[in-house]
Amino acid sequence: MSQLPPNSELSAAYAAPAQQVVDRLGSSVESGLAESSIEQRRTQYGWNELAKAQPEPTWKKLLSQFKELVIWILIVAAILAGAMGEWVDTLAIMAIVVVNGILGFVQEERAGRALAALRAMSSPMAKTRRGGTVHSIPAKELVPGDIIQLDAGDNVPADARLIESFAVSVQEASLTGESVPGSKDAEAVLAEDTPLGDRENSVFMGTVLANGKATAVVTATGMQTELGNIAGMLGAADNEPTPLQRRLAELGRILVVVCLVLVGIIFAIEYARGGELLETLLVAVSLAVAAVPEGLPAVVTIALALGLQRMVKRNALVRKLPSVETLGSVTVICSDKTGTLTRNEMTVRELNVGEGKFKISGAGYLPRGEFQPIDRADTSVDPQDHPDLQQALAVAAHCNSASVVPGKHGKTWQVIGDPTEGALIVMAMKGGFDLDGASRRVVFEIPFDSDRKAMSVIMKQPDDSRIMYTKGAPEVILSKCTQELRNGQIAALTETRRQEIQQQNSDMAGRALRVLALAFRHDPQQVGEQYQESELIYVGSVGMIDPPREEVKSAVAECHGAGVRPVMITGDHPETALAIGRELAIASADCLAVTGADLDRMSKEELEQKVDQIAVYARVSAAHKLRVVNAWKQRGQVVAMTGDGVNDAPAIKAADIGIAMGVTGTDVTKEAADMVLTDDNFTSIVNAVREGRGIFDNIQKFVHYLLSCNAGEVMLMFAAAIIGFPVPLLAIQILWINLVTDGLPALALAMEPPEPDIMKRKPRPPKEPVITVQRGLLIFYHGFLIAAAALFGFWWAYENDPANTDVARSTAFAITAFAQLAYALVCRSHRYTLPELGPFSNPWLFAAFLVSGLLQLAVLTLPFASGVFDVVPLHTMPWIVVAILSLLPATVIELTKIAWHLMGINENTQTGKEKLIPNGNQ
Ligand code: ATP
Repeated sequence: MSQLPPNSELSAAYAAPAQQVVDRLGSSVESGLAESSIEQRRTQYGWNELAKAQPEPTWKKLLSQFKELVIWILIVAAILAGAMGEWVDTLAIMAIVVVNGILGFVQEERAGRALAALRAMSSPMAKTRRGGTVHSIPAKELVPGDIIQLDAGDNVPADARLIESFAVSVQEASLTGESVPGSKDAEAVLAEDTPLGDRENSVFMGTVLANGKATAVVTATGMQTELGNIAGMLGAADNEPTPLQRRLAELGRILVVVCLVLVGIIFAIEYARGGELLETLLVAVSLAVAAVPEGLPAVVTIALALGLQRMVKRNALVRKLPSVETLGSVTVICSDKTGTLTRNEMTVRELNVGEGKFKISGAGYLPRGEFQPIDRADTSVDPQDHPDLQQALAVAAHCNSASVVPGKHGKTWQVIGDPTEGALIVMAMKGGFDLDGASRRVVFEIPFDSDRKAMSVIMKQPDDSRIMYTKGAPEVILSKCTQELRNGQIAALTETRRQEIQQQNSDMAGRALRVLALAFRHDPQQVGEQYQESELIYVGSVGMIDPPREEVKSAVAECHGAGVRPVMITGDHPETALAIGRELAIASADCLAVTGADLDRMSKEELEQKVDQIAVYARVSAAHKLRVVNAWKQRGQVVAMTGDGVNDAPAIKAADIGIAMGVTGTDVTKEAADMVLTDDNFTSIVNAVREGRGIFDNIQKFVHYLLSCNAGEVMLMFAAAIIGFPVPLLAIQILWINLVTDGLPALALAMEPPEPDIMKRKPRPPKEPVITVQRGLLIFYHGFLIAAAALFGFWWAYENDPANTDVARSTAFAITAFAQLAYALVCRSHRYTLPELGPFSNPWLFAAFLVSGLLQLAVLTLPFASGVFDVVPLHTMPWIVVAILSLLPATVIELTKIAWHLMGINENTQTGKEKLIPNGNQ
C-alpha cells in the first residue's frame, strides 16, 4: 500500500478539488476504502475519539466513602469504646467502619459501571462505504480516507471534505458559535487561508447536518479534528442527582436532626439515671448511626441503574437518570404512527393512473407480483405496454434513495433505506422496470422532509436535457401539478379531475392505505442553484399497506387501564391515520382527526381547552407537535412524545419524556431525547412506563423498610429509657443490626418485580413526596410493632432474671434482628400478602433473608462471637419467645392487609386487587 499523507498535509483539503483529496488519501468514491487498509490507517492516525480526562483513581473513590458524617460519628464511637478500655468494641466498630466503606464503594462502582455501559450503548454511529457497500459502524472506527454518507439530522462524525452535496446546510454553532446553519457546496475549491467558518466544502466533527444530503471523504479523525484542537480533554460525564435523589437527601438531613434530638434525649435520661457517661454516650452514638439511613443514596442509585438495565432488555434506552422517575408518572403518550404503531413494512397494493386502477399482488418485499385491473381481477397486464403505468414506475424507481436486496436464500428480501421507498422499488421491479445505472444520472436531489412531505430527483436524459421526478403526500403534489398524464398524453389537470383524484385517494386512505402521489416534468425550472417543484405533471397515486403492530393493541389497552392517554400524531393522511387509530382503539368510532391545518386555525387557549378530546392528529409538522406537547403540559399532564426527524427535536426537548426512534431516528433527535427506543415500537414505551412505576415503587419500598426498622430501634431505646429499663441493645449490637440485617434485604427489595396491578393504577402525581402522610404513619406503625415485640421480649427475660441483663439483651437483640428480617418479606407490598406474591418470586430477597438470618444466628450461637457482641447463649424457652415475637410484627401486618382489603381500604387501583398468577411474578 502506498504511503499515507501525514496529518499536516490533510488539513488543507478544502484547497483542493474533492477527487484530488480522495486520490491523495488512496480511497475511491465508488467503493470506499478496502477493509485491508483500515488497520494501517488506524495505526497511523489512531481511533476517531477525543481524549478523555483520566477517571478518578480507585483509592480516591474509596477514601471518599469516609467523608460521611455517620462514619465520623462511628469513629468517635470507636474512640469512646477504646477510652473505656473496651478494645474488642473498638476493633469491632472499626471493622464495621471499613466494611461499611467497602460496601458503599462496591455499590457506587456497580451503579457507575451500569451507567457507563448504558452510555456506551448510545455511542454515535456513522454510515461509511467500505469494500463497495455501505455499512453503519461506530463513529469511533472511522479512519481518514473513509467515504461517509450524511443525511439531514446526522452528526458529522469526523472532519471531512465534501464530494457530493445536495442542498446541504450545517449547524456549526458548537465550533464557530454561528447559530444559523450555513450552506455547503462540494464543488467549491477554496484559498488556503480561508478561515474555518467559511470552509464551505468541508464538514467538521461535532457539527450537525441540518438539511440536505452529502457524501464526503474523511480527512481528519479524533484529536486531529478541528474539534479535537479546541476541545482538549473531555471531562468525564458527571451524574447529576435526580430529583428523587435530591428529595431523599433532603429527607435524610431532616431525619439526622430528628434522630440526633431523640438520641440526645435518650442519652440525657440514661445519664440522669446514673448511667456511666462513656457507656451511655457510646450507646447514644451507635443509635444515632443506626437511625440515620446513610445507605439510602447508594441503594437508590443501584435501584435506578438496575431499572435502566431492565429497560434496555425491553428495548428502551434511558439516557438520563431522572427520566426513570418521570416515566412512572407519565399520563399522556403522544406517538408517531408509521413504524411505532405500525410495522413499517410497506407493500404497495393499489396504483391509480390516468388510464385505470390496478391492484398489485405479492407479499412483503419479494419483487414478484402482478398488475391486475381493479374491474378485471382475474387478468393481469404488463406495465411495459401501458405508458401511464410505465411512467408511474419510472417516478417510483428514480425518485428513490432506497434499495431492495435479496436475503440469504432469495426467499425474503430486505429494504436498505426508507421502507416507503423500498415498497415503491419493489413495485417497479414487479412491473419489470430496469433500474441499472440510474444513480449515475442523478444531478440533483431535493431530499424528503416531513414538513415539506415531498421529494424530488433531477436526472440527466441521454439527450442531456433534465427531467424531474417528484413524489409525496397527494395534496402537496397535486397543489404543484398543472397537468396530468393520460394514455401517454399530457393534458391539463381540470378541477373535475382533481376532485376525482382526491376522491380516489381518500377512498384508499379510508381503507388504512398510505397514499403517495407521483409526478414529473421535463426541464425543471431553476432559481440559482435550486430546482423548483412547480408546474408538475401528475402521473398517479399509490396505496400501500402498513399493518398495525400486533402487540400494540394490548399495549394501548394497557395504557387505558393505567390512566395513560395514548395519542397519535402523524404526518400521514387523516383518514389513514383514523383507520389505524380505530383499529388500535386509540380513537373511538366517532372520533375525528385534527389536521395540522386545523391546528393552525386554533388559538393556544382553544387548543389547551380541546386537547383532551383529540386522539389523532394528522398531516402535522414538527411545529404542531410542539404545540400539542405544550397544551398538554399546560393542563398539568406529564407528556411523553416520540419523534424521529431533525425538526422533532424541539418537541422532544419540551416533552417531559422525549423519545427518539433508535432505528429510524436522526442523531439530533436521539441527542435531544430522554429515552431511545431500540426497536421503534410503541409497546416498548408502555413497558418503560411499567418499569418506571416499578422502580419508583421499589425505591418507596426499601425507603419504607429502612425507615421503619430504624424507627423501631429508636422507639425501643426510647421506650426502655422512659420506662426505666436498662439499655436493651448495646452499641455494637445496634451497629450489627444496621449493617447486616438492614443492608442486604434493602438491596434485595430494590430488585422486587413490579406488583401485578402496577398498570391498573392511576399514574403517580409527579410532585407526590416519597413519604406521604399516609406512608409516614404506616412507617411509624410498623416501627412501633417491631419495637413493641423487642421490648416485650426484653421485659419478659428481664422479669425472669433481673440480675442477668445479658440474657434480656440477647433476647431483644435476636428479636429486633429476626423481626426486621421477617418484616422485609412482608414489606414487598403494602396490599398483597406474602402467600399472594409467592415467597420465592423475589429470589434475591429470599437469599438476603437466609444469609442475614444465618449470620444473625451465628452471632447469637457461636462462642467466639459472644465476646464481641456481648451475647449469651439462650435456652429453649427464650428461643421460643424469640421465635414467636419475631414473627409477630410481620403477622400483624399481613393480617392488617387482609382486613384492609376486606374493608375496601387502601385499594388504590381502579379495579381493586388484581388476581395474582400462581407464582406471583408477572
Ligand atoms: P409518522 O409521522 O407517523 O411517522 P409518516 O411517515 O406518514 O407518519 P412523515 O414521514 O412525516 O410521516 O411523512 C409525511 C407524508 O409524507 C407521508 O404521509 C407521505 O405522504 C409522504 N412521504 C413519506 N415518505 C416519503 C418519501 N420518502 N418521499 C416522499 N414523500 C413521502
